[in-house]
Amino acid sequence: MFIGHFAVGLASKKFAPRTNLAILIVAPLFLDMLWPVFLLLGWEQVRIDPGNTRFTPLALVYYPWSHSLLMSLVWATGFALIYHRIARYWRGTLAIWIGVVSHWILDWITHRPDLPLYPGGTRCGLGLWNSIAGTLAVELLLFAAGIWLYVGTTRARDRIGRYAFLAYIALLLVAYLGDRFSSPPSSAGEIAWSGIIAEVILIPWAWWFDHHRALRAGNSAAVHS
Ligand SMILES: [Zn+2]
Repeated sequence: MFIGHFAVGLASKKFAPRTNLAILIVAPLFLDMLWPVFLLLGWEQVRIDPGNTRFTPLALVYYPWSHSLLMSLVWATGFALIYHRIARYWRGTLAIWIGVVSHWILDWITHRPDLPLYPGGTRCGLGLWNSIAGTLAVELLLFAAGIWLYVGTTRARDRIGRYAFLAYIALLLVAYLGDRFSSPPSSAGEIAWSGIIAEVILIPWAWWFDHHRALRAGNSAAVHS
């Protein structure tokens, strides 16, 4: 899953409006941010295997440190505690914890049974990726719902708040569909580096336009609790 994770970040702005969107997006992307680093370190493995599922050419051979359920709870708790120490904002803390764990749940729905419950444990996955139409339908619907909630919570204060946001959504859609309909990557290193480069662009970009958007009236209760 790709833009489905972004959808969770966009949606959680409604619940935790005081937290910058970049942080709310890092949370549901967090396991996929660890993964390329762990691949480069040789701690986890991926193999290029066109047809592995109909949606992805990747065989996710071994990735218990970034993608087991147990480790997702550990990462979620660590991230949420650090945020809480700094920000002291319970809604943001909770949104981060749920966001990190939501990654595992959404991956569990999409992946074939390759997600371990704990390192070395039983692997599970419902395999939505075996259906291209099903994957696109679920992910695009989630993404639309995320945008709808985000736009219902914030409004543009200026041109950056409007157009940098719209360009961001357009880029995510192009990247998502382009990735699906282009040829498979040539190596694990290419997968890892393209993931890292995407994060370096997409996270600060979200911070930037979110900063140029104001909360709509009616969010004040969520801001102060
Ligand atoms: Zn993942």
